[in-house]
Amino acid sequence: MVVHIEAPILMIDLHSHSTISDGLLTPTALVQHAHSKGIKVLSLTDHDDIEGLKEATSEAKLLGMYLIHGVEISVTWKRCTVHIIGLNVDSENKTLLQGLSSIREGRFERAKLMAEALSQIGIKGSLEGALKYAKSGIIGRTHFARFLVETGYAKDVRTVFKNYLVKGKPGFIEHTWASLDKALSWIHESGGVAVIAHPARYDLGKNNLLALLNEFKDLGGQGIEVISGSHTAEQSLKYARISKDFQLLASTGSDYHGPGISYREMGALPRLPEICDPIWENWNEVNGFLN
Ligand code: AMP
Ligand code: MN
Ligand code: MN
Ligand code: MN
Repeated sequence: MVVHIEAPILMIDLHSHSTISDGLLTPTALVQHAHSKGIKVLSLTDHDDIEGLKEATSEAKLLGMYLIHGVEISVTWKRCTVHIIGLNVDSENKTLLQGLSSIREGRFERAKLMAEALSQIGIKGSLEGALKYAKSGIIGRTHFARFLVETGYAKDVRTVFKNYLVKGKPGFIEHTWASLDKALSWIHESGGVAVIAHPARYDLGKNNLLALLNEFKDLGGQGIEVISGSHTAEQSLKYARISKDFQLLASTGSDYHGPGISYREMGALPRLPEICDPIWENWNEVNGFLN
């Protein structure tokens, strides 16, 4: 008798970060880590930057994996920050590159204001301190958080966020990112598909969530993360139903940022609920790596 045992791990992970944004591992080390966890198809989705894709692709080739070119774009929608993932983008597309570059400039301006705000409560030198951790083109709150841990203001990154870097706390600076419209147009112009990242993380009421989904669909958005490292099982089910109701394709990703600071380890995500249509359903080359 042949006993069919389903593979215990999901071999695809469509959301991860490297040192190009706020991850702890270089693109090469990230791909090696994914490989060690049994991932066959990985997307590197750094915040607002696609500098790491070339290196990650080379390493994936060496290891017999498939690297999907991705990006996670910071968007402001109705004064809320929303993250939009672009998958299968052309990393040489000028429109995309220029758009991302404009967000990175905004990040630097925000960082200067954050440092000023922190300095007013007696925390000096945080811009330089954060820049030490920002190894590449983007600077973000995570880099400030690492500096604040280093200088003893909190025991870990999570605590720094809670006490200093979220709305209502002294180091928080309101910032306007790209518009939803622009982010989707860059993704589409570069041949990619747009996916709403970790939908359960936004503080939108029911009506605004519906409005976001409708606007996203109207702009040609196709996917939503049903499984995310930051979703509970209940949240995944909720967004599985929403993906069906809105005819959105379902994505899955750990949102891995490196050892010790991630919601979830790679290769440890639950499978997509049966009712979902996986976003990679018709990606023949990808499916070749998964079968
Ligand atoms: P930024 O885009 O610079 O505003 O930073 C957002 C990033 O900060 C996210 O992608 C996470 O990596 C990290 N982050 C956000 N909230 C938290 C939190 N509460 N604890 C730890 N990291 C967080
Ligand atoms: Mn991040
Ligand atoms: Mn995100
Ligand atoms: Mn992310």
